[in-house]
Amino acid sequence: MRTKLYYHPVMKEHLTGENHPERPERIDAALSAVHEFSQIQIVESGPCTEEDVLAVHPPEYLEKLRSEIPAEGVVMASSGDVMLSPKTLEAAFHASGAICRAIDDVMLGITDNAYVLQRPGGHHAERETAKGFCIFAHAVVGARYAKNHYPDEIKKIAIVDFDIHGGNGTDDCVRGSPDEEDFMLVSSHQAYTEHGAYQGLYPMGFGNPRYDREHPTIINIPLPAGTKSHAFRAAYEDKVFPRLREFAPDLILVEAGYDGDARELFDVTKGKKFLLAPDDFYWLGSELRDIAREHSKGRIVMVMAGGYNLQVLADGTRASLAVLQDMPMPKQKLLPESLRSPPVRDLGY
Ligand SMILES: [Zn+2]
Repeated sequence: MRTKLYYHPVMKEHLTGENHPERPERIDAALSAVHEFSQIQIVESGPCTEEDVLAVHPPEYLEKLRSEIPAEGVVMASSGDVMLSPKTLEAAFHASGAICRAIDDVMLGITDNAYVLQRPGGHHAERETAKGFCIFAHAVVGARYAKNHYPDEIKKIAIVDFDIHGGNGTDDCVRGSPDEEDFMLVSSHQAYTEHGAYQGLYPMGFGNPRYDREHPTIINIPLPAGTKSHAFRAAYEDKVFPRLREFAPDLILVEAGYDGDARELFDVTKGKKFLLAPDDFYWLGSELRDIAREHSKGRIVMVMAGGYNLQVLADGTRASLAVLQDMPMPKQKLLPESLRSPPVRDLGY
């Protein structure tokens, strides 16, 4: 099984300020896991084009971002909760570009499947608003790229997001589009107890399934704080896999967010989080890979999403890479000393 990993060093030059949880070392932590797989080739990919981004975000948004990028230092975007530094936009173009390149290589048979590193992240970026550390909705940029460049082969795309935070940006960029039903969006995230009490994290209020009733291909899976392996897996088995199989996507994109790991430190001050482990991410990835084999000619591209405890991020990445390589769940391995950083600051999202 050939797997390639796509990234560019400029993703580390997107700076977020001291003690910010979404920090450049996240790329190093993910790469440390990749280096354990000698057979996985690392591809230094280039940026996507402006046209690729404009297939998702309006030109005014891009202009506004450009006007806010500082000549030096780090500033907060006017929309809040996104930090901007001189290289942020270049990094964002490379993050989207990495997905587009991975899709090209999968479609051209250059690789069987792919894993994509990205900073800044993508799943919180809405059409016209940078949010939650995210600038461009990379997965949607990739999905639109796939549809536009491979119209005969790629008609339907599933984007499955298992980050503990809801995929509001992916949703915003697709919901209401004329071709909305060509996309199946799955987002499992912390939101509601079975009795309807709200326990959501960032972005507050997102993902109430009541709003999905008229949207047959948008599936939000709200789960309560404290969700463990069994409930997490059952939710996917009951509510996601049958619908994914029925939808039969031509390509599966996965927003692989590992911040549902019980060891995650982000959001910890609220005492609210999932209690998952890398085994769960391995299990879910394997199921999605198998669905891709059944229905999508094996086309699956996994994209790094959340995970701010560097050990969690490395372990989750390792689990996903093993999935793509058809290997058993790997043993966990401590990060090198240089990456064993202290707990990250909780921003209160
Ligand atoms: Zn997250």
